[in-house]
Amino acid sequence: MAGRTDVFDLARLQLSSGQGRRVDLLVELEPLEFGGQRYSSQTRLTEAALDAARTTAGYSLRLRFGAHLEGPCMRCLEDADTRIHVDAREIDQPGGGDDLRSPYLAGEELDVRTWARDALALALPAQIACREECRGLCAICGENLNDASPDHVHERAPDPRFAELDKLRFE
Ligand SMILES: [Zn+2]
Ligand SMILES: [Zn+2]
Repeated sequence: MAGRTDVFDLARLQLSSGQGRRVDLLVELEPLEFGGQRYSSQTRLTEAALDAARTTAGYSLRLRFGAHLEGPCMRCLEDADTRIHVDAREIDQPGGGDDLRSPYLAGEELDVRTWARDALALALPAQIACREECRGLCAICGENLNDASPDHVHERAPDPRFAELDKLRFE
């Protein structure tokens, strides 16, 4: 495997209609913003498998890679260890209408870097958490509830009306 690939020229594969080939690429994964937090891949360069098949008029493409993201748990803000498996497909069929054009393909130049970035963002779970049962932070004092005792509770803030009553009683 050579160096990093940002744009891959599919013409290099010299595929004729019906033929397909797999190539292994090193793709750069840019840090991404998600839910107001920043996540970056532990290995900035990631091995990705690109499957390219020539159709009658275009290409059918599949990109697969794994990523190990580092960044905070969205509930407790401790480090979350998030492994994502990306399996993305694109079809490019010139003449088949806009739905069948891939935004990552210009002629035979495939923008694997942008595709990998978008596919990773789409593969993220709804919420990144350090573990499924993370209890998050206490809404009142901010303590990490994963470390707090199970009976962590706060007295209810006194109702100001009762405070007035107390005054009356003791005067
Ligand atoms: Zn957590
Ligand atoms: Zn608390």
